[in-house]
Amino acid sequence: MKRVYSSPLITIVENVKNVLELHGSRCIVRNQHLSTALGEIPPIECWPQLWVAEEDAERASQIIDTSFADNVSPQGNWICQKCKEKLEAQFTECWNCGTTRHKQ
Ligand SMILES: [Zn+2]
Repeated sequence: MKRVYSSPLITIVENVKNVLELHGSRCIVRNQHLSTALGEIPPIECWPQLWVAEEDAERASQIIDTSFADNVSPQGNWICQKCKEKLEAQFTECWNCGTTRHKQ
C-alpha cells in the first residue's frame, strides 16, 4: 500500500476516496478516528490518510492532481502547485513563491 493523500479534514479525505473509487482504485482511509479523538487539528502525521495499492498509486496521484489541485476544500482553499503551500480562497497567487493559482 502507498499513501497518496492526507488532510486534517476527514470529509476531504473521504471525498478524494470517493473520486478514486469512481475511477476504479481500491483505497482505504487510515487515522480516520485518531483526529476526531484529539478534538483539534492534529499534527500532520496523525491526519487522516488515503492509501491505495502500490500499482494504483501513480494513477491515483494523477487523478488527485487533476480533480483537486485547484479546489481541495469546500471553502475554496487551494494548494500551490509549485511549493505546496496551503492558501486561502481569496489569494490568486501564492504568497510564498508567486505561482498563480491557475495551472501553467
Ligand atoms: Zn508557492
